[in-house]
Amino acid sequence: MRRYVIAGNWKMQKDDHETVELCNAIRSGYKPDDRYELVICPPFTSIASAVETVKGTDIAIGGQNICWEAEGAFTGEVSARMLLTAGCKYVILGHSERREYLSESDQLIGTKVQLALSEGLVPIVCVGEKLDERESGRMEDVVGGQFDGVFANIDKAGFDKCVIAYEPVWAIGTGKTATPEMADDVHRFIRGKVEERFGRDSAEKMRILYGGSMKPTNSAELLAQPNIDGGLIGGASLKADSFLGIASTIK
Ligand code: PEP
Repeated sequence: MRRYVIAGNWKMQKDDHETVELCNAIRSGYKPDDRYELVICPPFTSIASAVETVKGTDIAIGGQNICWEAEGAFTGEVSARMLLTAGCKYVILGHSERREYLSESDQLIGTKVQLALSEGLVPIVCVGEKLDERESGRMEDVVGGQFDGVFANIDKAGFDKCVIAYEPVWAIGTGKTATPEMADDVHRFIRGKVEERFGRDSAEKMRILYGGSMKPTNSAELLAQPNIDGGLIGGASLKADSFLGIASTIK
């Protein structure tokens, strides 16, 4: 049985004060549940407040990025170790917005995955195709290529600690969701890639989250698919009722 992950990606939203407010609202509506782990990924500046506000619960905190180097003269960057010591358990890596606006390559993302793992953070590794790539029948090439590129230098022990998020770029923040069947097809494809590269046991254990306009009105069907093990949620994670509402649709 794979334990679901319900992770909120706040992106560049919520200042410190708003973080405390939202974390308090999530905390008061949340009831621990063995079937899933709740994860909140606020901006760097709010991590300390988020950690403090959820203290004493099993809600986990994550970052949204780390530097490609462990330490040094990298102005403006934040290291894996800094996230860990600030109280993070998870880190989102390879989000499509960073691939698009910061030209992050699979190789760079792979380096970050290695660094995150070496510090003991759990990477949530994002993959996903753009609309034109899907429409021209290249989804498997693109998603498979991202998988191969990012995990090229990761060994099985490291890989087994990761979480993967399939996020079709055309469904992020657009209100368009992949149908549950469409999403499950890609998740099955990814699980097949895992089996080829790391073996059956890794494929059976790997949590593959869906991300892209997930909300309480569509999450039940998505989360009921056999290969979907949770969600990476943007917009709907910014309100406690919709974020917890998604978690409550896990059957
Ligand atoms: C995301 O950016 O990870 C995401 C899934 O956003 P949204 O839920 O807003 O589509």
